[in-house]
Amino acid sequence: MSSKAPKFLDDVLLRCRNAGLRRTRALEAVLQSLVSSNKPLTLAHVAESPELKNSCDKATVYRLLTRLEHHGIIRRLGLHDRSAYYSMIFPGHHDDYLICTECGVIEKLDLACPVEKLEAQISRESGFRKLYHELEFFGVCPACG
Ligand SMILES: [Zn+2]
Ligand SMILES: [Zn+2]
Repeated sequence: MSSKAPKFLDDVLLRCRNAGLRRTRALEAVLQSLVSSNKPLTLAHVAESPELKNSCDKATVYRLLTRLEHHGIIRRLGLHDRSAYYSMIFPGHHDDYLICTECGVIEKLDLACPVEKLEAQISRESGFRKLYHELEFFGVCPACG
């Protein structure tokens, strides 16, 4: 876990409270596993984390993830339910992704964000503020050929 994770977790818990989410051990554990991961996690990954494996069933974890997504605290990536990934939304930070349409594997794009300039331009021209974006590129990964 990175050293900034605990502080960030407090931030996230505050955002949850402001969104009216009840602070439960399960909610904390779900957030903990997402905050301390440096890549998006599947429902199975989260549900099988040590804090949740014995205390919480998958359906509960799924409900929590859905609620967090609904409140804009995490985001969901991927094509369909069975290969959905979840990741924290860090204010002022984002990643762009590459997703395989065959097996659902997901990779962070290893390059500088290609559309930040475009985003600034759109903001100038439209008058919209606080713009953000999430890019997902879809294709077939090398393993799926
Ligand atoms: Zn694949
Ligand atoms: Zn980007």
